[in-house]
Amino acid sequence: MTPAIITGLVLLAVLGIVYRLGYTMGYNTGRASGWVSSRRIMCPKCGEVQQAAVTWSYPDPYASHIHECTACGYIITESEWNEVGE
Ligand SMILES: [Zn+2]
Repeated sequence: MTPAIITGLVLLAVLGIVYRLGYTMGYNTGRASGWVSSRRIMCPKCGEVQQAAVTWSYPDPYASHIHECTACGYIITESEWNEVGE
């Protein structure tokens, strides 16, 4: 291996450790182990406006936007997530 490749690999390893450490520290010091946020969304199928929860749990990279419509039972996913104002 050339020195450039070795340097690149070492850099990647260090970045990975720092990334992991940040996660771990956030997890230990605060309430960063997860959160729930209440939103008003409209069902794309029946138009019912209702409360839905956006949730995130450590160590998921993304918050989850999944809700079952209270009126028609349709499963609303992130691509159909349509937030409406109060
Ligand atoms: Zn619906």
